[in-house]
Amino acid sequence: MKPTNPTSQYLRMDRIPHIWCPGCGLGTTVNCFVRAIEGCDIPLDQISVVSGIGCTGRVAGYLKLDSFHTTHGRPIPFATGLKLANPKLKVVVYSGDGDLFAIGGNHFIHAARRNMDMTIICVNNFTYGMTGGQVTPTTPIDAIASTTPFGNIEDPFNLPYLADCAGSVYVARWTTFHVRQLIKSMKEAIQKKGFSFIEIISPCPTLYGRRNRLGDGLEMMQFYKANSTIQNGADTRDAVLDFKGKILCGKFVDRERPTFLDLYNTKMAERLGSSFKPYEGV
Ligand code: SF4
Repeated sequence: MKPTNPTSQYLRMDRIPHIWCPGCGLGTTVNCFVRAIEGCDIPLDQISVVSGIGCTGRVAGYLKLDSFHTTHGRPIPFATGLKLANPKLKVVVYSGDGDLFAIGGNHFIHAARRNMDMTIICVNNFTYGMTGGQVTPTTPIDAIASTTPFGNIEDPFNLPYLADCAGSVYVARWTTFHVRQLIKSMKEAIQKKGFSFIEIISPCPTLYGRRNRLGDGLEMMQFYKANSTIQNGADTRDAVLDFKGKILCGKFVDRERPTFLDLYNTKMAERLGSSFKPYEGV
């Protein structure tokens, strides 16, 4: 009997083989995501995945869910519309560091501030892979990119701290080496009410690793293994990534805040009285 891959039921197999390079961490993240939704006990027709543009943006096209591959930097506004039109949906934004924090940075902070009920999964490979390896807002200082051939001079974002300060109710960081922890975290984030955020440090051996002499995908994973430390509950200010110290991983934030729709319904009921009917979607 021909063996079947247990994840294939969650993938659009007609689109496989995928376009990702050998050693890229993206496939590992998708595998973890599939395992997470399998363990969430949420009907698949109630989960929707939205991606932007880039290598990570391809995820939406490979998942056999209601998924949307949107324009560059705009998956969060698109996901906001989806959530407001159908508040029962579990909406997951799955995109890269350039898409979410350069072009889409503004959308990220405002969706977190509003506590839009959605999960953001950011695969952070420190570069724009699909377009040739340009510098992004997470590229470490001194790192070589196609647009910084003499080394990056800008301080990168500390993504967990940014998410925490902007109001995320759940913030975690893992590398692609930490598959068990990542699956657990994805499950928690998807089931958490409010704006949840997971950063996944992931190898791009082709454009980031090669330019910075970090070795192939396996060597980059070995580096993550040797240089990560897990501290659940750590202060997100300590999650700076400079690759001189340890990569701080863990679940950093898990708190409660009313979501945008909770506040809308509560405040409008107070202001409009009995004439107000709670919003339940279109
Ligand atoms: Fe992965 Fe980098 Fe290749 Fe894109 S360019 S598929 S991020 S290894």
